[in-house]
Amino acid sequence: MTHKITYSDSLSKSSEFLRLAISLLARYKMPADPHNYQISYEHVSGRNEALSHDLEHILEQSKSPPVKQFKNIYDVYFERDEEYLDIMRLELRQIISSMLKDFGYSHNELSNYSKTLTQFIDILDSHPSSASSNDLLEKTQNVIDETHSLSQSQQTTEQKMSTIIAEIDLLRKELDQVKEESKKDTLTGIANRKAFDAELEQSILTSRENNKPFCLLMLDIDHFKAFNDNYGHLVGDKVLRYVAGSLKRNIKGNDFVARYGGEEFGIILPMTGINGAITVAEQIREAISSGKLTDKATEMTYGKLTISIGVTQFRASDLGHELIERADKALYLAKERGRDRVEKL
Ligand code: GH3
Ligand code: MG
Ligand code: MG
Repeated sequence: MTHKITYSDSLSKSSEFLRLAISLLARYKMPADPHNYQISYEHVSGRNEALSHDLEHILEQSKSPPVKQFKNIYDVYFERDEEYLDIMRLELRQIISSMLKDFGYSHNELSNYSKTLTQFIDILDSHPSSASSNDLLEKTQNVIDETHSLSQSQQTTEQKMSTIIAEIDLLRKELDQVKEESKKDTLTGIANRKAFDAELEQSILTSRENNKPFCLLMLDIDHFKAFNDNYGHLVGDKVLRYVAGSLKRNIKGNDFVARYGGEEFGIILPMTGINGAITVAEQIREAISSGKLTDKATEMTYGKLTISIGVTQFRASDLGHELIERADKALYLAKERGRDRVEKL
């Protein structure tokens, strides 16, 4: 009883059947010739129930390689023609060329593997008579073995790589964190003097480049020494945090606030002219002087807190320190003229 052979298994399925078929032959120490391979493939792919039934019976009984029984099965189930070999050759070719496409990148092991596959394709492409069936099957086995060892070494390489990548990621995150921390003032959590200097330099470059104005505000808490003396340094520290928070709330977008030192703060207002900067400074001054300072725990109220602000606009010829000096002078004017004030220069 022969049956018409049609093979339309998907690429991944036929690769799996190929592997199973070869390993079944190996298990029973059967020569991997095309006929035996065809029997094995028919069986593992589950397409021929009668064949599988007969084969299982044979395999259960077999003590030595069931060479004769396989020959019988072939006589019963398959036509003695070369059609099958051609089909298998096409299938294998399809599997391998798709694998080659996947390995289109350069890696030593992979490129060796690609070479084997390419040689194998040459054999498949050659005329049937020049590629003996045994040769074909032997090569198939080689490809399977190499695939297996490659996938093992790839797995360990991938595991190592992913561990290394995870470690690098962690280090990078830690480094980013350290970098971020180095720009922050530890008491208030806003930018520190170092970050302020860098930001100011950048603002100067940007302003020169795009010819857009920007302004600098220098702010200083009024009579803060007296405040510390009255309520102690710890309360003074709380006030510094409160002022920093208030400054942050009163600026927006790309505006930049930093603790410049002690009880002094600096604010950079990009894309802002002097009038806009004075408006912002007034808002800040007003917010601080109208705020009520109380200790939540003790419900104690502290005296009025005020701040003086010097405002100046960047001039194209300014060096960084010249800009700061001018803002400082404006601040000094504000102090001189009575504090809780905004002055410009
Ligand atoms: P003015 O209105 O002229 O600015 O008077 P002032 O008392 O604020 O100025 P002065 O420069 O005489 O004193 C600044 C004070 O700020 C000194 C110090 O007690 C206080 N101060 C500076 N840094 C800190 C800090 O980190 N924590 C606390 N609690 N106080 C600080
Ligand atoms: Mg001061
Ligand atoms: Mg002060």
